[in-house]
Parts: sequence; structure tokens; C-alpha cells
Amino acid sequence: MSDPDSKPVTDHNGRLYIETVGCQMNMLDSELVVAALRRDGYQLTDNPKEADTILFNTCSVREHAEHKIYSALGRLKYSKRNRPQRVIGVIGCMAQKDQDLIFQKAPFVDIVVGTGQLAEIPRMIRETRESEERTQRKAVSLGRREGSREEVSDSFQSYDPLRDPEMRPTPFQAFVRIMIGCDKFCTYCVVPATRGPEQSRPPAHIVQEARVLADQGVREITLLGQTVNSYKYTEDGRLVRLSDLLMRLHDISGIERIRFITNFPKDMTTDLLQAVRDLPKVMKYLHVPAQSGCNDVLKRMKRGYTVEDYREMMQRIREIVPGCAVSSDFIVGFCGESDESYQKSMDLIRECRFKNSFIFKYSARTGTKADELFADDVPEETKRQRNNEMLELQNRISEEDNAEFIGRRVRILVEGPSKSASRRAAREGQPLDGASLLPLVTQESHDSHDPHHPHDSHDSHHPHDSHHDHSIEPQTIQHASEEAARLALQLTGRTECDRIVVFDGNPRLIGSLAEIEIHDCTSTTLLGSIVTKEFQHGSGLLLPILG
Ligand code: SAM
Ligand code: SF4
Repeated sequence: MSDPDSKPVTDHNGRLYIETVGCQMNMLDSELVVAALRRDGYQLTDNPKEADTILFNTCSVREHAEHKIYSALGRLKYSKRNRPQRVIGVIGCMAQKDQDLIFQKAPFVDIVVGTGQLAEIPRMIRETRESEERTQRKAVSLGRREGSREEVSDSFQSYDPLRDPEMRPTPFQAFVRIMIGCDKFCTYCVVPATRGPEQSRPPAHIVQEARVLADQGVREITLLGQTVNSYKYTEDGRLVRLSDLLMRLHDISGIERIRFITNFPKDMTTDLLQAVRDLPKVMKYLHVPAQSGCNDVLKRMKRGYTVEDYREMMQRIREIVPGCAVSSDFIVGFCGESDESYQKSMDLIRECRFKNSFIFKYSARTGTKADELFADDVPEETKRQRNNEMLELQNRISEEDNAEFIGRRVRILVEGPSKSASRRAAREGQPLDGASLLPLVTQESHDSHDPHHPHDSHDSHHPHDSHHDHSIEPQTIQHASEEAARLALQLTGRTECDRIVVFDGNPRLIGSLAEIEIHDCTSTTLLGSIVTKEFQHGSGLLLPILG
């Protein structure tokens, strides 16, 4: 973020700037906070200089993400000189974890609000603004040992009141939280502390929310949970599992695609896999982090499964949902990870042939069991080397598997302009947003983006990571009319098995389902051309969109 004080600011009221780091849960939280503040009369701005409220929605999973926020805060040190009324807030995971430390490190911060207290934000900003004397305000939930399970759970409110289409990845895609918190307590992880006890939302609330979203034009929903497949809710004495919830959501007309992230290997039950197989709207894609391929490491991580268990799960996935794409997360350089242990993770990647993997260097986190019990003894240089080597292996596999798609046709939901098209348009002073997309933008390179890890500022290395912009040669549009070609823009979307596709097409295709023929690929992207325009799920009905 740039220094908001580099130029004098004009006096605006009600302008909100929000910066979000971290996972999809944070993206969703930001959407909801913005919706609530808009109701209070705030206007969003993407320019911190003109904002009178600046919020950072934060992540604590790795140290790097926290450093980023503290540096951004450092740049705001003098930002109240010209705007004494400006309110600065730190919200989310870091707020819950660091609490008063944030006020100590950045005394000009006005409000600190944890993940379980986000509903308090509008009131806290209002009070800060109205009060004569400057008072710092804090709203955080109880620590995991600061009360009974019930008390701690009650202090983390699931925050899902209002939606704000403008804050979504696209107008027709939305995240829906189905549970909060986590009870797995992997030894390296802060999430059980920052997001509190695991609590599933009532199915009726989730279905109602999905209906509202469908009415607003959403066609694809992504169900969110730290261990989404652990979802369970007792309703009238009967247990509702994720598979049951998927069936209910499947019935909502307007919703064409349903996905869910992130899965926990031990909770990958057969009923869930059967639901993925049998429900056409459910994407054939499972993100199931393995974290390591070595039993000793998995034990120290307290993941609760062995490599043999993970293999058995993979075999069940392959048998029950043939063709299902599986992706994973790995941590390299965890405490005591020998070269031999690391090689076992490499072996698991070779064997499972993941669609992609997020690879993280272990980052010791205060307050976690691993930090308490084990030495962070793998040198940074070794972590870096293992990270790069693992990424190289994964990329090779991803590219080989993507090459299998060449010559085949895939169905995608067209999400919007590709990143290079958007960058080019921004350079030319024509931001590309939804319906206003029409001018010719000549293509230059093909790249990918990942709305599932949108602002992931972490040090992961992932084929869909924005750091890895693999450019390949432009292709000509083979099936579109001349007029369509004139209007063509480089567009992007995802297949049913979550592979990114880039093709040239009329911007009016955005938001529709289309069939694409694949001609080429990189490790991150399939490159193709449009074959058909729009079809309705299950019916095979073709609805022309292009002129
Ligand atoms: N709940 C999900 C699960 O268990 O798969 C993921 C949640 S976590 C926010 C996302 C990923 O961050 C994890 O899968 C893990 O690979 C990584 N991660 C978590 N804590 C970490 C740490 N201390 N250092 C490095 N990576 C970490
Ligand atoms: Fe963290 Fe483990 Fe929970 Fe995932 S399952 S959020 S890695 S504690």
C-alpha cells in the first residue's frame, strides 16, 4: 500500500478503504464487513489517501503475512496529521491473536476486532468518530482456554448477515460459509486459536443464503470451512452431513456449480464422495491437504492420519469419482524434517499426481504446540531449496496432466477477462468490469489467476499463484464469427475439475457456461477456443449469447 500522506488529502466523509490478506474466509469476511458499512453510508474507495476509514483484514497463518500488515501500518504512522478523524482498524486473525500488541506496535490504531466479533465494527467506528477523547477500542473473543467450550464458542459469532455483490470475485460467484473454527489443533497452526471452536451453521440458514445469492444472479457457490467435510449439524434429532447439505443446495434453481474447500483427509467419507459423483452441479474437484508424506512428520504435526490412510483415501476417490481432480497443501521444513522425510513428501506427490499443490515453508507461530515442543531446526536455505524443488516437481506433473486435455472439449464458467487482459486495459485507462466490457483488447500473453487464493500474500508456491505468470504464444480464434473476433477479449474460466482455461471471446460471454476446445497448455493453464456459447446444466440446451 502506498503512503496515504504523500499528498494532502481533501476532506471526504464516509470513504472506506479495506485491504484483505489471507484465505477465502477473509475475503468473505471483508465482503460482509463492507456490506454492513455501506448500510451505514460508507462508500468504498480503492485509494487509501482519500479514505476516512482504513481497515486491514489480516492473516496470522505465516509470519510473512503479519509482517506485511505491520509494515503497512508503519506507513500510516503520520496519516492522521491531515485527517485527525481518520479511523484505522485491524480486524481478523491477527487482531484476535495479537490484540493489545497491535496498539503497542501501532499506537495510532483505533480499533482491533477479532474474527468472532466482526458485527461490532460499524458501532466501534461510529463511537470512535463521535467520542471527544481518543479511546482505543478492542473486541476480541475468548482464548481457547479462557472458558468452557460453550463460552468460548459463544464468543465467536458466525458472521453472515448481508452480502455485497461488489466485493465478490465476480458477480456470479460467491463464497458461502458453512462452518467456523477448527478443532483439529495441528501443532503448527494458529487457526484453532484465531477462529475458535468448530461450529457448523444450521443447514436452513445456508440454504436460505444460497437462495438469496441465486436470486442475485450467483451461479457458482463455494462452500467454506477450515475442514469443510467435517460439517455436521443435528436437526430435529437427525444428523445433517456435508453430503446431505450438498443435496439440498443442488435443488436450488439458478445455482449451476457447487464446490467446497478445504477438506480434511480423515473426514473424506464415502457418502460425500458418492454425492460428488452423483450430483451434476457438484464440481469434480477436491482440495485435500496432505501436508507431508512422512509418518514421523505427520505425527509431530498431529494430523491424525498416516500416509497409508491418505493413500487409501486417494484410492477411494479414484474408484468412486473417476476423473476427479485432487489438489493438496504441503509444508516443507517442518521441525525435524530430514532429507529422507522430505523425499517421502516428493514420493507422495509423484504417486498422487495432484492437480496442483500449495507449498509452504514452515513458519513457527507463537502459541502453537509445535513452537512450544519442537525446535524450528531446518535452515531457511534448506526450506527454500525444498520449496523450489517440490514446486518444480508439481509443475512438471501439472503440465503433463494438462497436456492430456489437448484436443478435448471442456465446459467452463466464464469468469472474466484474463489477468493479462485486465492489466493491459488498466494500463490503457480502461478498467474491465463486467457489462462495460466491449472494446477490442489485443492479446499478448496467457496467464492464470486463482480466485480461491485471491490475496494470498504468503510464501506459498503454487501453479496458480500470481507470481508464476507463464506466458505462451497467442492462438487465433477458430470458431467465433468475424464480429465476435473484432470484439474478442482474452477471457478466463474454470473447468468442472477446477482447471483454468484461457481463450479469446466476446466479453458478453462472462457469467455464462461455455464449451471450449483445448489446443495448448502450460502447467497452470489450458488454452483453447470457444466452441459453443451457453448451455444449461443437465439439459444440454444451447442458448446463443454471441451475436
Ligand atoms: N484447514 C485447512 C487444512 O487443514 O487443510 C487449511 C488452513 S491453513 C490456513 C492453509 C495452509 O497453510 C495449511 O494447509 C498449511 O499447509 C499451511 N500452514 C498452516 N500453518 C502453517 C505454518 N505455521 N507454516 C507454514 N504453513 C502453514
Ligand atoms: Fe489448521 Fe489443521 Fe485446522 Fe487446517 S485442520 S485449520 S491446518 S489446525
